This record gives sequence, C-alpha cells and structure tokens, in this order.
Amino acid sequence: MENITPTQTTPKLLVVATGNPGKVQEMQEYLADLNLQLKLKPKDLEIEETGETFLANARLKATGVAKATGEWAIADDSGLAVDALDGRPGIYSARYAPTVAEQIERVLTELGDNSNRQAQFVCALVIARPDGTVALETEGICRGEILYSPRGNGGFGYDPIFYVPAVEKTFAEMSGEMKRSLSHRGEAFKILLPQIKAMFG
Ligand code: IMP
Repeated sequence: MENITPTQTTPKLLVVATGNPGKVQEMQEYLADLNLQLKLKPKDLEIEETGETFLANARLKATGVAKATGEWAIADDSGLAVDALDGRPGIYSARYAPTVAEQIERVLTELGDNSNRQAQFVCALVIARPDGTVALETEGICRGEILYSPRGNGGFGYDPIFYVPAVEKTFAEMSGEMKRSLSHRGEAFKILLPQIKAMFG
C-alpha cells in the first residue's frame, strides 16, 4: 500500500553550550518555527571562559562543545558595559560580586553621582559546526542608562538598574515579550535568524 504520511524532516540537533535549562528555553523561543531541537550540553563538559571579550568567550564555548560532542553547538556570552566605567563590569558581569544585589550595589557605588549614566548590554552569539569551527557569529547591543536606584521586579541580574529611555522602563519593568524584542539577546538573534534559517531550514 502506498505510504501517504506527509514527509517530515527530522529536526536538526543543536547543543546549547550552557548548564542552565532556562537559557535553552529562552533560545527555543527565539528559534521557534525552525526545525531545530535544542539540548543542554553534557553536565561534565566544562569550558573555561578565558577570553577577553564577549565574542571570544562565546566562540570558546560554542567551538569547545561542538568539538567535544561532534554536534552543532550554539553559545552566547553577555553582560553589562557601563561607559563611564570603561566598559565594566563587562565580561565579569556574573562575577562582579558574590550576589546579584551586591553586583548592582557595586556598579551604583562605582558610578556614584557621575552624570554620564550611558551603558549597554551586549550579547555575543556563536554557532559552531560539529568539527569545532565557527559557522555564524554576531553581537547584539541594547543601549540604555544606569538609574541611581533599582526599579521593577521582573527579569534578572542588572535588569532593575538598566533603563531604556525609548520605552521609559527598566528591563525589570518590561514584559518578557517587550524585553525579548528590545534586548541585546533579541537583537543578536534578529541579526542571525535569516542565516540560521538558511542553514537549518
Ligand atoms: P550570560 O553570559 O548570559 O551567562 O550572562 C552573564 C551575566 O551578565 C549575567 O549573570 C548577568 O549578570 C549579566 N546579564 C546578561 N544579560 C543580562 C540581562 O538581560 N539582564 C541583566 N543582566 C544580564
């Protein structure tokens, strides 16, 4: 008998170079509608982030995981860069102090009453081939201003002190949808999406 089942191509596997299931979920949302199956990197596979830039660290993670697993891999690396602090906390964003509250406090203390509050969130995004070479990479940026004190309860990390004048809200005051459309991470995925579509369908 003739097989009338519609042809369905099996989804292509993309290993996310993170140990954080939340990050896989978030990437899945940006990559919705694509025939891709995202999965967490193996637990015991640790890649040291020894790079000096966001892009260098995202490259290390994506190429390291791709090579070790023999699968396509995707990695991001992101953080907050404050103009008047010469780009700090930058690649040290996650380690700027032991707790998130102390990280925010440190940025506010270092900035003091400096009237230059300009800052940006940066997200480097890299996709690596199974042989460990870089296939696609980009950097997304969201410009904003550092407030004098935190505002809002949503989001994570430095969200409560990062204010986007165009919408008069901090990242912590935005809906998930608004943050996804304005954020550095959203920007990076927007830039790469046409190429990801061309590559993975
Ligand atoms: P990761 O590279 O995505 O793990 O992020 C590194 C660190 O940068 C986080 O631990 C946060 O401190 C900071 N960061 C990156 N993206 C955001 C954001 O969207 N909101 C607030 N903090 C962020």
